[in-house]
Order: sequence, then C-alpha cells, then structure tokens
Amino acid sequence: MDKNLDISVVIPVFNEQENLENIYQQVITALQNKYSFEIIFIDDGSTDDSCKVLENIHLKDTRVRAIMFRRNFGQTAAMSAGFNHAKADVIVPLDADGQNDPEDIPALVEKLKEGYDIVSGWRKDRKDKTVTRKIPSMMANWLIGQMTGVKLHDYGCSLKAYKREVLETINLYGEMHRFIPAIASWSGAKITEMVVNHRPRVAGVAKYGLERTIKVFLDLMTVKFLGSYATKPIYIFGGLGILSGFTAVLCGLAVLHMKYISSEHLAMNRNPFLLLTAILMVTTIQLILMGLLAEMIVRTYHESQKRPIYVIRKILESPRGDSK
Ligand code: UDP
Ligand code: MG
Repeated sequence: MDKNLDISVVIPVFNEQENLENIYQQVITALQNKYSFEIIFIDDGSTDDSCKVLENIHLKDTRVRAIMFRRNFGQTAAMSAGFNHAKADVIVPLDADGQNDPEDIPALVEKLKEGYDIVSGWRKDRKDKTVTRKIPSMMANWLIGQMTGVKLHDYGCSLKAYKREVLETINLYGEMHRFIPAIASWSGAKITEMVVNHRPRVAGVAKYGLERTIKVFLDLMTVKFLGSYATKPIYIFGGLGILSGFTAVLCGLAVLHMKYISSEHLAMNRNPFLLLTAILMVTTIQLILMGLLAEMIVRTYHESQKRPIYVIRKILESPRGDSK
C-alpha cells in the first residue's frame, strides 16, 4: 500500500491497441493536478499490439504499470489482478475501449468520501446495441436486484469507485466482477450509485455477445447460494430434503389408504403414488446427505484458510491491549 497515492485506476485490456493511447491521455487529463494516482493496465492475453503499446506508455510515464497475462483469462480475472496489485486506498476500474468516461472519476471518488464504500456507475444513457445489450442487461439488473436484495440500475458498468478494504475480502471467479456490490453489501458495505457518461466504442470490437447473459445468470445462482448459505448449506439441502420427505410420507399414506381402505389398483401404470413415494424417499436421503457433505466442505473451506464467518469493521481496543 502507498499512502501517497489517492487513486489506482485499473484497466483490463483485450485487443484494444487503437484505444489505449486515448484512454491513457483521458485518464491523465481527468486526474492530473487533482489527485496523485497510478494507472494499472492488465493485458489479458491480447493477440494484437496492445502489449507493445502498453510498454511504450509505461516507458514514458512511471505512473503507468502494466501486468501481462500469459493468455486470455477474461475481464474478471484481469480486474482481479489489477485489484491485487493496486497500491492506493481508492480503486477505480474502467474499460479500455473508451466507453467509460474518465472525466467521471473525480465525482465518483468525491462521493466515496461521503462515507460510502462503493460508488457504482450507472450508464443511464447507454450507447450500446438495444437487442443484444440493453434489453438483456435490463432484465439481468432487475433479476440481480431481486435475488441479492441490492438494487442498482446498472450492475454491468465497469466504472465504479471502491474503497480498497471492500475488495480485499472478495475473491472473484467467472464473470463475477459485476456482483462485487452485492457481495460487498452482504458484508455490510455502504453502496450508492451515480449517473455516468457512456460513449460508443470508437475502435476495435466488443468482446461479448448474448452468451454472456447465460453466464451471468449462472454466476448469479452461485453468488446467491454462497451469499445466503455459504456457512450453512444444510439449511437449503436439508430444507429441500425435509420437503421431499414430507411429500414422500403423504404419498406413502395415500398408497396405504388405497391398498387397505379403498382397495384401489396399485399397478404402476395406473397409479403413480407408489413410484413417487419411492423416488421421493431416495431424493430425501440424497439431499440430506448432500447437505452434510456440503457442511464438511464449508468447514474445510473456512478453516483451511482461517477465513472467519464474519467481517469486522474495526475494533476499539483498550490502550494496553488487555480488555479484561
Ligand atoms: N476485456 C478483457 N478480457 C476479455 C474481454 C474483455 O480484458 O476477455 C476488456 C476489454 O478490453 C474492455 C473491457 O474488458 O476493456 C470491456 O469489454 P467490452 O468493451 O468488449 O465489453 P462491454 O462494453 O460490452 O461490457
Ligand atoms: Mg465496451
């Protein structure tokens, strides 16, 4: 960490050679004379000349650092590398293609100072294709809001300002950078959003299509599961198990009633209840055992990394450290 730095700007790059010089200049113009800052570019295995362009920028400006990946690991991995190497207390990621406007950074950073942990950009007037981008994204934002309970208009906007401590406890996988606000708010982070400028891509091509929506949806399920049940998976598996066990008992009773009281046919082709009872009983046992296995996995996960199941904001110690 570097106390002399105000802001670390983190920029993931995948085949953006024509855009890099521009975005670099724009960040400089937006921040110089106002803040001390560093820019970290992460070259996510570009196959064009992005790497060379970054080397040149780094040579002429020591505020610029670059991390070169061996291959393409994806935007989330690139951001995560940037976060891990960032030295300032405030971290601001943004896209390399110039769609985010660095002129918005000061406002986001000032908003953080009002006591927020994350200020999330909202591309209110978004300059992307309507059918493949804006509509799926509207639906995704609504769904993420419903499922995580953290309602933001624009989860997908890369431009956000984070306090470093919020990012330190979060590990990112898949396409999960968009869920950072939700995950952080579960650990008690204060979050707000702010309208930011959005511009059309000037050069290069967009890296994603509709298939991203599916990935985001699957990630959402993982995030929701981990967020709600990471330390108590038996509640969800066991809960479903009990539900299925209860249904099994009801079906079993129906079968007994039919056989002994109303003397109905129990042949499988006419009457599903016998089969249902058997299947549901097996399912019940499976679910409960899976829940117990998950409990063991969770314990291994937390205890092997000495990960506490809580997050502390600060501790008020007595001066000599003995609080007895
Ligand atoms: N990006 C990356 N790795 C990838 C895909 C994208 O680092 O595998 C970067 C890309 O260079 C850009 C940012 O992530 O800086 C956002 O990508 P893009 O503009 O294609 O996506 P969108 O604007 O649709 O979110
Ligand atoms: Mg873009």
